[in-house]
Amino acid sequence: MKDVSDNMNEKSAMKTGRIDVLGVGFDSVTLDEAADRVMEHVTGEGMAGGVFTVHTPNSEIVEACINDKSGELYKIINSGSLIVPDGIGVVKAAAMLGTPVKEKVAGVELGEEILHRSAKAKVPVCFLGGKPGIAELAAEKMKAKYPGLVICGTADGYFKKSGEESDAIIAKIKASGAAILYVCLGAPTQERWIYENREALAAAGVRAALGLGGSLDIYSGAARRAPRIFIKLGIEWLYRLLREPSRAGRMMALPRLYMRVRREAARMRAK
Ligand code: UDP
Repeated sequence: MKDVSDNMNEKSAMKTGRIDVLGVGFDSVTLDEAADRVMEHVTGEGMAGGVFTVHTPNSEIVEACINDKSGELYKIINSGSLIVPDGIGVVKAAAMLGTPVKEKVAGVELGEEILHRSAKAKVPVCFLGGKPGIAELAAEKMKAKYPGLVICGTADGYFKKSGEESDAIIAKIKASGAAILYVCLGAPTQERWIYENREALAAAGVRAALGLGGSLDIYSGAARRAPRIFIKLGIEWLYRLLREPSRAGRMMALPRLYMRVRREAARMRAK
């Protein structure tokens, strides 16, 4: 039986039409349009019940879906109410497959735009994730940057992702009165946690949950984003690789995705 969130996700997908990149659906939206969709749901009448979920997959996650033989990860990722491409690899892949997306929507930027709008609309936000102290520091920095911003709760991301510890986190979120929840546990842990807890989160009063990877590290100042020129040239991945060489293995997903997409594009042309 379909639940409220499933219906909401179908409607949401119909609104923009999804672009398929090797089985993962992406919404072709600009960053502003993505923020509009989230805020419409949070502040407007929206759909009754259900959490509006935002996923921000990159090449690594597309590859993880392909490699997950159970197919469960596809289901989890594609269940997002809004799915935006957080990576140049996905943007290029969509174009190579003949279905370009409007732009790359970096989760960290979308998250910041929503903080900006939440400050104006007085919508309470809760930060979950990162090492102990990071969410608090991120809250301090963002409140200073966006006057009026209400960060009503914070918690680190090092808890057991199911059972009592996870339930206690949800109880804390409920007590905070958060309407928007930033879930920064790394992918795909965060998407899985949101998916498994979507009903409990809705019951806790959360209207939107966003999986935003390492964004709290950036907001807190504990990590830095690539200089603008790297972002503009589409080589943010190179900056990350230089700063964190240990990510090299994970980042090989990008060229592997490229090869897969090339094969898929050739197969489609041959049809
Ligand atoms: N993290 C967490 N709980 C965990 C594992 C990771 O809160 O159990 C945090 C980690 O501290 C970091 C973020 O998740 O802030 C992952 O960041 P990364 O940039 O690696 O995100 P990804 O690229 O995996 O989405």
